[in-house]
Amino acid sequence: MSDNQDQSPRAAQTVCPYCGVGCTIEYAGKGKATGTAGPVNTSGEVCPKGVAAFDVVAHDERLTEPLVREGGRFVTAPWETALSRVAAELGEIIDQHGPDAVEFFASSNCTNEENYVFQKLARMLGTNNVDNCARLCHSSTVAAMSERLGAGAMTNTLDDLAETDCLLVTGANPAEQHPVIFRSYVLPAIRNGATLIHIDPRETDTTDAADIHLDVRPGYDIQLLNSMAKVVLDEGLADEPFIEERTTGDAELKAHLRDLDVAAGADAAGVDAEAVREAARAYAEADRAAIVTGMGMSQHTSGTDNVHALLNLALLTGNVGRPGTGVNPLRGQNNVQGAGDVGALPNVLPGYQSVTNPDARQRIADEWGVAPPGEPGLTETTAIHQFGDGVRAAVVFGENPAVTEPNANAAGSAFDDLDFCVVIDLFETATVDHADVVLPGSSWAEKSGTVTNTDRRVMRMRPNADLPGNARRDLDILTDIGQRLVDQADAFDYDGPEAVFEELTRVNPLYAGMSYDGIGEGYQRWPFPADADSGTDVLHSETFASGERTAPLLPISPTPPADAVSEDQLVLTTGRVLQHFNSGALTRRSETLMRMRGEDVLEIHPDDAAARDIADGDTVVVESDRGSVTVSAAVTTTIRSGVVFCTFHYEDPLANALTGDALDPVAEIPEYKHSAVTVRKAAAP
Ligand code: SF4
Repeated sequence: MSDNQDQSPRAAQTVCPYCGVGCTIEYAGKGKATGTAGPVNTSGEVCPKGVAAFDVVAHDERLTEPLVREGGRFVTAPWETALSRVAAELGEIIDQHGPDAVEFFASSNCTNEENYVFQKLARMLGTNNVDNCARLCHSSTVAAMSERLGAGAMTNTLDDLAETDCLLVTGANPAEQHPVIFRSYVLPAIRNGATLIHIDPRETDTTDAADIHLDVRPGYDIQLLNSMAKVVLDEGLADEPFIEERTTGDAELKAHLRDLDVAAGADAAGVDAEAVREAARAYAEADRAAIVTGMGMSQHTSGTDNVHALLNLALLTGNVGRPGTGVNPLRGQNNVQGAGDVGALPNVLPGYQSVTNPDARQRIADEWGVAPPGEPGLTETTAIHQFGDGVRAAVVFGENPAVTEPNANAAGSAFDDLDFCVVIDLFETATVDHADVVLPGSSWAEKSGTVTNTDRRVMRMRPNADLPGNARRDLDILTDIGQRLVDQADAFDYDGPEAVFEELTRVNPLYAGMSYDGIGEGYQRWPFPADADSGTDVLHSETFASGERTAPLLPISPTPPADAVSEDQLVLTTGRVLQHFNSGALTRRSETLMRMRGEDVLEIHPDDAAARDIADGDTVVVESDRGSVTVSAAVTTTIRSGVVFCTFHYEDPLANALTGDALDPVAEIPEYKHSAVTVRKAAAP
């Protein structure tokens, strides 16, 4: 496949590389993007990140030549040298230690086609050790929703949100993190009279539009959600016909909640009991009530159970399977939904087919000529603890785990325990510091392919710029590695991304029937039945995606967060801001966005600041059992007392130096939202 397959036309409609909303943009000249009227941003509106998306494309720090480590330092090398070394090192490690000695980090910021080929490479080499950063954001949501409903994705559509009568937004701040959703779908619903309930320990721009704000203590969501369910049951607000017809296990759940004291539950969650009752009534009495859920729910050691408790609330009130209702996780990166859909996860093949399903493995074998392994592989959060031991090599594709993994100092050091690490990326990220070979890949603006947004829409990306220097398209890099490493080299011989997509539609039942022509400048949404026009909008209408007519109600009990918090400590919770994205590897290189928000701050309540003699703007030291950072304090009443907040977008301060690596036992997601820290004023220089 030629690197020059696309002649880089300018101003072609493509998809914003940042959040999972999926706004369409194109090059507007002078280094800026402009929104185009697309499937999601129908008026062409975009947020500041979308406008600034081109800032990093032609950035002078772009990697333009392969780098190979020699004598402890990187030297530039021809592609042939770099790729030969990758093939030789990985081949030798697999020969000596077996294919499970390699962990593959896929990229939720890259296309479906690239992620499909990436997981195919891992599986054809004989391992299911492939994961993507969905592990770090919504793996617990996907686990709970898949178990209960049969699909780990938004049950409804963004358009539906505008039609709802009540929005329960929990652990999310769409006004900043998914701004086009907020302005185009949430605010219209509110203008039409919908009630907005916001559950979040911070008062954010989303809270400003809310009718009810429950500033829950981080880690105590189940106490709050169980209390809301108890109010629903006590006040006769449950949808008993729906419960009878579409659920099982109601007797067990009702028995579980029978003795729950709402006042005590609210007290444990740190919120007002009357506000909890008011929220439960507003949600249950609405004709159509929709839940929007974010990482405030998912990033806990109880993340899967948190989402189970949310699902109980939706099922008890019949708010599933109808327009304007549902449970709707807002996905983070532009293709985190797609990376999971195409199988970049250790336990499922493309289309969320279990790796233990013999029929699914046979379908794959018919296409690839090789059956994938039948046992789940390692998640990235578990694999990292086996670096240098069971895991001897890592292939990191467009991710930056040295910044994004919890307990990041230890995670970065773990990479040094590997025998070999290859990174494919645009810039010298913190992870590159630990690599042996670095391959310069393509940015979002230099490639074709598809991405899948937060409400299951598959959309096409088109190139707007040429590749810099000797950088190569990611798909070409991956297929080149595949042809060098896998016996059935033909399996990686594609005539461009459309050919990859066609293969994907043959092995992924959710994408069956989709095509590049069919998507055009619009979208096709999964699941995509044979007679579909644009796909299925509302899931679980007649039967659940599990194939069952009923979904189980589950008794859920709270478990304490992993970090015990002593009297003199505060709880650190981390999150995002409007101007930046994930590890900041891209957005911190944008002059536009850095002018808007150049540095991080630690939000701290005035009471907590006063107790530590900290004034607004003071430099403070934040310490946990894992590490220590120095940052400026922002004293504000918008954070609840006892909790401090900073983002995870910066390398200095590196928030994940503080977070712990305790994991949710089901989804193996870290507890980014609850870390015990001490905060003190830094000594004068
Ligand atoms: Fe990009 Fe998300 Fe902003 Fe849309 S809302 S422009 S997808 S970052």
